[in-house]
Parts: sequence; structure tokens; C-alpha cells
Amino acid sequence: MSKVYPVDPAFAAKARLRKADYEKLYAESIKDPEGFWGRIGERLDWAKKPSRIRDVSFDPKDLHIRWYDDGQLNVSANCLDRHLATRGDKTAIIFEGDDPAESRRISYRELHAEVCKFANTLKHLGISKGDRVAIYMPMVPEAAVAMLACARIGAVHSVVFGGFSPDSLAGRIADSAAKLVVTADEGVRGGKRIPLKANVDAALERPGTNSVETVIVVRRTGAAVPMQSPRDRYYHALMEGQSADCPPEPMEAEHPLFILYTSGSTGKPKGVLHTSGGYLVYVSFTHELVFDVRDDDVYWCTADVGWVTGHSYVVYGPLANGATTVMFDGVPNYPDFSRFWQVVDKHKVTLFYTAPTAIRALMREGEAPVKKFSRASLRLLGSVGEPINPEAWEWYHRVVGDDRCPIVDTWWQTETGGILITPLAGAIDTKPGSATLPFFGVKPAVVDASGTLLEGAAEGNLLITDSWPGQMRTVYGDHQRFIDTYFKAYPGNYFTGDGVRRDEDGYYWITGRVDDVINVSGHRIGTAEVESALVAHPKVAEAAVVGCPHEIKGQGIYAYVTLVAGEQGSDDLRKELVAWVRKEIGPIATPDYIQWAPGLPKTRSGKIMRRILRKIGENLPDQLGDISTLADPGVVKNLVDERLIR
Ligand code: ATP
Ligand code: MG
Repeated sequence: MSKVYPVDPAFAAKARLRKADYEKLYAESIKDPEGFWGRIGERLDWAKKPSRIRDVSFDPKDLHIRWYDDGQLNVSANCLDRHLATRGDKTAIIFEGDDPAESRRISYRELHAEVCKFANTLKHLGISKGDRVAIYMPMVPEAAVAMLACARIGAVHSVVFGGFSPDSLAGRIADSAAKLVVTADEGVRGGKRIPLKANVDAALERPGTNSVETVIVVRRTGAAVPMQSPRDRYYHALMEGQSADCPPEPMEAEHPLFILYTSGSTGKPKGVLHTSGGYLVYVSFTHELVFDVRDDDVYWCTADVGWVTGHSYVVYGPLANGATTVMFDGVPNYPDFSRFWQVVDKHKVTLFYTAPTAIRALMREGEAPVKKFSRASLRLLGSVGEPINPEAWEWYHRVVGDDRCPIVDTWWQTETGGILITPLAGAIDTKPGSATLPFFGVKPAVVDASGTLLEGAAEGNLLITDSWPGQMRTVYGDHQRFIDTYFKAYPGNYFTGDGVRRDEDGYYWITGRVDDVINVSGHRIGTAEVESALVAHPKVAEAAVVGCPHEIKGQGIYAYVTLVAGEQGSDDLRKELVAWVRKEIGPIATPDYIQWAPGLPKTRSGKIMRRILRKIGENLPDQLGDISTLADPGVVKNLVDERLIR
């Protein structure tokens, strides 16, 4: 029933892998993971080649995950030094500022020199291997420089999204006991200034943050900001006179590379720890194959470095592959809704990777802003972050991609380090709304609530039954939380927390978080499915669906609906939407309540926080929990005031 978009023959003709190659290689990767990942590991430059490829146990009583254990490498050397001989003058980073007039290109040679100087700066300030460094920055190249400089000397970075408040920053600094913070005087987003340095000052007044000895301030806007001596130092002043010679120190493969807190859409953020060797093997390999990256591509992932997507697919994956990566410091709607496409034309972007939330926001504005620019350079589109509703997928394909660019819908998590379920554009037919098939070495499984493995077409909880090199190693400072969160529910397996449906072709459809799955009269209904149906209605811009108490059905369906600009909510429209969902999915999915929502509560990374909506739908507005990671806490009040169950 769902539409199939066959592999484009022209794309397949030039692709690295066709369908038969995918099948053969996938089978190999599952049959002999040691041999497979040993071979793939050779894509990196190792100071000492690993002989032990994997040492893994998912048993909660003896949990350990180690890859390339006795190998040694330096992550920054793999992202920089090894490209100098062949690609020294190639552009590593294209920086595009918030202001369309601002952009610059940085070659691999220039980036290498800058990273070496900053690594020397960090050493000079007393930072050494294992120390934690917090990075609270706009999307400027210096953010990548700071990350890579940490990697060069073995310091562990913890990037905190620049949109977070002083409290959120303080919590993350305290949790990791960071010794140093890298920030900027101010950030600029959508024409508005963000007082980053002032936020750091405020954060460092909070309890638990006195581990911080130094604050390094990059001049972004040049605004005058108070500098506390001797704590605060300017980046440019420190860099002056630093040597650009800083030999990379070999690190053990399992040496921690970074800590990154999850976006917090289901609860208190977790400090996800990733290590060096396996992570870099995995992100470089997935980046190359999923995006079909070639030497002349211009690759643009719109994610912020504050999220895992920014780590794996703006910085580490692309740079390890010697690609040209765009860092964008702006937003999709500034100066207007054409911005993405203007940037695509300006830099001749060929590979474009963004989130469903951005696609839906742009879709609401119609086709005109897209059609203003040619987008002729584009050859592949990607999506990540949430289930993409088929409606948005089709629009992305038809309007943005002019029916000519394949779409890769990539499912993964902060915890997984890199992409786990995705099509490969030359090999796998796509179905709008499905992330399709597992990547090499990835073993998904579907289980019911009691843990029984389901075969064939089935719906249930998504597990991954064996390790892959990019997997997180622990929750920083709380290994027990790591075990309890991911390995207790289905012992011997990694539990993703996501619900999934596997169809008759073996394709995976993420149905939303397991906590969000609604049980209506004994039928499991994924939030994603009902939301997709609602968004497919021409008057609906966005929808979020949660379960609510229902005397007869056990759980009822409560929908929050944002209408497209110019539409008004009415009882007639309610009836129309109910009838629409019944037609699209069936009577079992009939919404019991539809609340008009001028805005939805979203994390800073654009994900809907359904747990808040659930509490409102349950008439428990005083139990909303942690809302500190919300992008706009203001939307909550309206939703509470207008709630339909009291
Ligand atoms: P927290 O774990 O703190 O609640 P989070 O899960 O939102 O935060 P991330 O690691 O950024 O933090 O998001 C991973 C989740 O995003 C996945 O578990 C899944 O629910 C969703 N997701 C990501 N990509 C896709 C995709 N392509 N299709 C469907 N869902 C996706
Ligand atoms: Mg999560």
C-alpha cells in the first residue's frame, strides 16, 4: 500500500554499492563481525594497528563494549594530518554565517594549523589527557577547531548547545567537572544576538561549577563583554605566537573522545560517552556510504554541533573522509524561508541533510520560497531526528529534490554514535516514512512487551542484538544508569526505547518512543502513524498525539493540532479531521480529543516532547517534569489553559 520509490537507475549506475552488493556485504558483516570490522577498521590511520577487533558482552552482569582495543590512533590526525599530502588545499569547512553576506572557506592545511595552535594553547593552560573541556559555541569553525584540538591531546570534550540556558550549561559543566570552557562573546541567530559569555558567567556562579579554571572567549560579534582576570582569556590573544607544530599523540582506541548529553525529550539528559577508534571507524564509514560522498561533493548537514548529528556528520565523519563540510550558523527562516536554498546555490551543495521538523516548517510556507533558487547542484537528500511523515517525505522529494534526488531517512540516536537503519541510495528502494534496512553489522530485532522475539512482519519494541563500533560505552559517571537504561529490559540486548513496525519486505518503520505508544482497546498505535495521518490533511501543519485516560478503551487518543497559517479551528474542522484519520488509518485510530495548538513543546533540537503533552492530556499540569531543555517554554501555558480534559 505504501508507495515505493525504486532506486534511480542513473544513481545506481555510479553508486559504490548496488542491491546485490548490499545483501552480500550485509550477510558477511553479520556472519563474521570480527573479520568485517577488522577490514573496515583499516580505513583509518593507526599509530598501532589493532589485533583485538571486538570484545563485547551485553550481559547486564558483565557489561562491556570494546572495539579495536589494543589499537592506538589520534582522531585529529585522521581528520587532518593524513589529508595534507593529497588534499591540503581542498576546502575542509565552508562557513556560512547567520548574515547571508558572511562566509569563508578553510582549507585542510589551514584547519590543521589552527587546530595545532589551539591544542598547544590548551596544553599551555594546563589541559592534559583525560581532562574535560566544555564547548559552548555558535556554529563557527572555532567550535570544530576546539573539538579537534581536544582530540589531538586526548582531552574529552563536552559540547553544550549554544541555545541552552545558564542552568542547563551549569548542570552539564558540573556533571563532567570540566576544567575549561570555550565560548564566544555572543552568538547571532536569525538576526538576534545570544549572550553566550554572559550565560557562561551566570552558569559559573551556580553551585558545582568551580572545577572551571579557564574560560576562552572567541570574538564573534566583537561586543564588549566583562572579562574576569585571570580566568577569562581571549582566543585570538592566546593563539598569537603559538606554534602550529603539535604532533598528534597516539590514544588508545577506547580512550574517551567526548561526552554529549541527549536532547532530553524523554527525561533528564544522559551524559553519553563515546570513545575514539570504534566511533571514528563507524562515523567515517557510514558517512561515506550513506551519503555516497565523493571527492568533489559539497556536503551540508544543517545540525548544530551541540547535537550528536553535528558531531558525527558535520565534524568527525566528513573530516575523517576528507570531505568539504558546510557549517551553517543561521536558521531556515532568516532572512526569509528561502535561506537553505539560497545557501545551496551559493556553495553548490550536492548532499543535503536536515531534520523533519525543518522540512515541515518549510512546507507550511509553500513551494515559492524553494522555487526561487535552482538547487541544481543537489544530488541526494537526508533526514534525521524524528520519524518523517510520508507527506513531508513526498514534499522533500518532489519540491526540494525536483523528483531527482534520492532521500535517505536515517534512524539513529546519540547513543548509537552513527546511523544504524537507512537506505543506501544506489541499492535500496525507498518507501516514504520508512528508514528501510539495517546498515552493515547492525542486527535489529522486534520484540513484544514480554520480550518474545517476533519474526517476519511484526510490530513491537526495537532492540539491537549485537554491538557495532560506534556504540556508546557508558553514561558518564554513572555506569549503572547505562546498564539499567539500555540492557535491563531485554537482557542480552540493547534496548533503543523506540517502537517499530517491520513490514513484509523487512523494512523498518519507527513508530515513536515506546513510552509514547498508545494502547487503544488492546491495539498498539504508534504516535507517528496518527500524526502522519493528521499532517496529511491540507489544513494541518503539525500534530502531536498522546494517550489519555479512557474509561472504555483503556487509553484514548489525544491530538494536539497546529493548523496552517490562515486556518481557524472549529467543531466542523474537528469532525473533518476525525473522519479523515478514520479513513486514513481506520476507526481504531479515531482521535478522542483534538486540541488546537498554536505551538508545540519542542526540544532545542526540534523534537516534540510528548511526555509534557501526555501530562496535559491526563489533566496533570502540575507534573510536567523537567522542561529546561524546551526551546520555548512559553507554549506550555497556552496548552495547559486550553486543555480539554479537566
Ligand atoms: P532523550 O534520549 O534524552 O530522550 P532524544 O532521544 O530525543 O533524547 P537523540 O539521541 O537526539 O535524543 O534522538 C534519538 C531519537 O530520535 C531516536 O531514539 C528516535 O526516537 C528519534 N529518531 C532519530 N532519527 C529518526 C528517524 N530517522 N526516524 C524515526 N525516528 C528517529
Ligand atoms: Mg533517546
